[in-house]
Amino acid sequence: MSDITILDLNWVGRPHSIASALLESGGHHAIIDPGPESTYATLREHLHSRGLSPAQLDAVLLTHIHLDHAGASGSLVRENPRLAVYVHNLGAPHVIDPSRLLASAARLWPNTLHQLFGETLPVPKENLRILEGGETLTLGTRKLEVAYTPGHASHHVSYFDAAEEIAFVGDTTGIRIDNGPYILPATPPPDISLEIWENSFAAILARRPSRLFLTHFGYAGNPAEHIDEFRRRLHHWAELAAEVLRSSSDEAQAKQTFVARAQAEMQEQLGAEEADHHAFTAGLDLSFLGLARYLRKRAEAEASA
Ligand SMILES: [Zn+2]
Repeated sequence: MSDITILDLNWVGRPHSIASALLESGGHHAIIDPGPESTYATLREHLHSRGLSPAQLDAVLLTHIHLDHAGASGSLVRENPRLAVYVHNLGAPHVIDPSRLLASAARLWPNTLHQLFGETLPVPKENLRILEGGETLTLGTRKLEVAYTPGHASHHVSYFDAAEEIAFVGDTTGIRIDNGPYILPATPPPDISLEIWENSFAAILARRPSRLFLTHFGYAGNPAEHIDEFRRRLHHWAELAAEVLRSSSDEAQAKQTFVARAQAEMQEQLGAEEADHHAFTAGLDLSFLGLARYLRKRAEAEASA
């Protein structure tokens, strides 16, 4: 038996925000991106409804270490000390010791960190399986190829199931809820790079998946078209960020203008309710901060070249 199941973590009571993938094959059970600790109870309920428990999981595969993807890893290991947690080399230190990750998250969400993400526990070093990209993992009868796909984060990897033609891309190809009409960039600080991102698109397309699995949220069809449209939106948002930074008196005002304009654009395409859900899932202000940082770094590099 080989199964892939979407688990809707119903993040802060919002369905279709964060999707985990449960991979079962030949008695092996793995989860790609277990989500934040705040939805750990929901994850456990999903497992129970399938006759499973955290203790029966064999592996957790992280696309990257942001709290909405990876925060529950430490809690899973506490309950299941034999659990293997796969993570990219550059992300590993922050999974072993999340204090810096949590300190920067506390700056980004000063009032809502705990409500959004719960309590992020460290993962003991012995549980980690360090990835660089290029590995092929054997999970029961399933083979998963790992590719290094930075852009959204410098330590981001994607997982490819060649037999099923599915690419588990985390946040590398943006946010698109239920294959909907709008693809939205998520560009939080500190690692955004449009140039590096391009190589990751190529790495995904080279493997010719027929579907993408997005953490936010679910499957997207026609990967080539999806990525073309995502690239267009990403560059459009970078230009929008540059434009509001030029025309605003300070970064706080620029952020406000960026969020208002991005929201208006989304409302036009999606209607108010869906636009609000997309904006919540993505964090528009974070996306602005990430793009502003990227533009600043790029300008500095150009000035010193
Ligand atoms: Zn995410």
